[in-house]
Amino acid sequence: MKYRSLIAIMLLVGLVACQPDTELVAPATAAIDKESPLARTTTIVHCGILIDGISGEPKFDQTIMIVDGRIGTLTNERALIGDIDLSDYTCLPGLIDTHAHMVEGTDTADLSVYLTRTSEEQQGIATELAWKTLAAGFTTVRNLAAYDGFADVVLRDRIDSGEIPGPRMQVSGFYLTIPGGGGDLLIPGYTEDEIPERLRMGVSRGPEEFRRNALKGISGGATVLKVIASGAVLAYGGVPGSPEMTPEEIAAVVEVGHAADIKVTAHAHGAESIKNAILAGADSIEHASLADDEAIALALEHDVAFSMDIYNGTYIASVGLEEGWPEEFLRKNDETTEAQRQVFSKAVAAGVPIIYGTDSGVYPHGDNGKMFAIQVRRGMTPMQSIQSATSVAAKYMGWERDVGAIVPGRYGDIVAVRGNPLEDISRLENVEVVIKGGVRYK
Ligand SMILES: [Zn+2]
Repeated sequence: MKYRSLIAIMLLVGLVACQPDTELVAPATAAIDKESPLARTTTIVHCGILIDGISGEPKFDQTIMIVDGRIGTLTNERALIGDIDLSDYTCLPGLIDTHAHMVEGTDTADLSVYLTRTSEEQQGIATELAWKTLAAGFTTVRNLAAYDGFADVVLRDRIDSGEIPGPRMQVSGFYLTIPGGGGDLLIPGYTEDEIPERLRMGVSRGPEEFRRNALKGISGGATVLKVIASGAVLAYGGVPGSPEMTPEEIAAVVEVGHAADIKVTAHAHGAESIKNAILAGADSIEHASLADDEAIALALEHDVAFSMDIYNGTYIASVGLEEGWPEEFLRKNDETTEAQRQVFSKAVAAGVPIIYGTDSGVYPHGDNGKMFAIQVRRGMTPMQSIQSATSVAAKYMGWERDVGAIVPGRYGDIVAVRGNPLEDISRLENVEVVIKGGVRYK
């Protein structure tokens, strides 16, 4: 598009939403007349370097026009007025964390806090965590899951209604887990009577009960289902390498999810659970820490993505020790951290789709970007690492029409960092500009 026609469009559209550079800026809407075709909000962003999330190569000096929250055009003509000038920056698609716990803070040292915390208090905490996540450049998360049943559904609705700033969310409502499993909040020293019912909504035994609870999740607003197929690291009594759910139980949840056009992801550390989940039809595997060659081959064959949280083991090993986290948790973390990183390298080399899932909440929210550097150290190229948190994540979430790339039609979710993250991937730990739906938040 020629410069003159670009300006003409800007004038035609009438309003250019360009907010001042403050910490949090209220969305500027530009209603002229709701019925008029001119009633549009336009944001124009100029990027020195642009990584679009799909292409293997960056582009230079690109101007992005966002109209009504979605990306309209991309040109290399410089807009002179009314733009957000990021010519000293690299622009990327808003980042995606496919394994977040945005409702809960870092409470692993003492999980009993959940037994007395009210849902209102939990939402108060989540408000701050949602902002921290967005400010770190993560404009989309998949929340897997919340102990306080449906708290993530409530949080999503508060964000989507504009009540509070935060990322777009896929939400799972609660954990689908066996009694005493990795998603069940049984804590030594507390009886089952002391655990509020809303903290155990997804605890199920047998395929029929799993089926019923999966339906309950969907009817309550869940848009992704999470099954705890194997034992967990940060739960009492579980053995990460051993299955907890049977193949029939996983298959029951997959059947319900897929009938509703909803993805199902399986928490699975051990090879047997990973294989069970893939063969039962799960769409992605969380952790995948102890996958063997056969599990990796199955993931490839069935086009199942691995979401591998290879940063937080380092955090747990240092802070967990300082804060006196349960000894059992620290031991299981040691058993899975390096093993998982080796599996990650193998899976990358084999070509398994990897989606960027950090397990935020295990480590402090806002540090979501710290996993990029480890991904690169363990075998990804910087571009692969970026795509794992953009177009690849979007594809395996089923949101590839909306997020994960700076291409026409998708939401105008753009983040920017100084310099070139392809030369130094750790630059993604310091996202300076966050635009979501064409609105600048940071
Ligand atoms: Zn998790």
